[in-house]
Amino acid sequence: MEKKPLPSVFFHFRFKFLAVTSIAFLLFVILSSSSDFSRFADSAQFKLMGPFFILSGLMFLVFRRFPIKCPYCARVLPTKKNWTCPHCGKKQGKERFLMEKCVHCKQMLSTHECDVCKKEFRL
Ligand SMILES: [Zn+2]
Ligand SMILES: [Zn+2]
Repeated sequence: MEKKPLPSVFFHFRFKFLAVTSIAFLLFVILSSSSDFSRFADSAQFKLMGPFFILSGLMFLVFRRFPIKCPYCARVLPTKKNWTCPHCGKKQGKERFLMEKCVHCKQMLSTHECDVCKKEFRL
């Protein structure tokens, strides 16, 4: 019997999306810049770079905190807690974000268990 794939809450996807957007913007600025630096420094793209990367940084912090929703029971779950690592089965020992690596085995979390219904889903 084929194992059904676990539903995903697209938690890691948020950060990939942010990274891709930042790289795309940077490429756009580089490719559209003029060879003359003083003119480039005056251009709108160059002036947008600062605010854009500040905004990206803020979005990163917001994305990290933004709670996830269990795909089974629709309960909202915090992204910072003392989670149990599915690789080594150990607790983190302190409140940590789900996007951080395990303190024991340095593995990234790929799945997580709902606090309420105890079912597993992909992050
Ligand atoms: Zn671990
Ligand atoms: Zn649940």
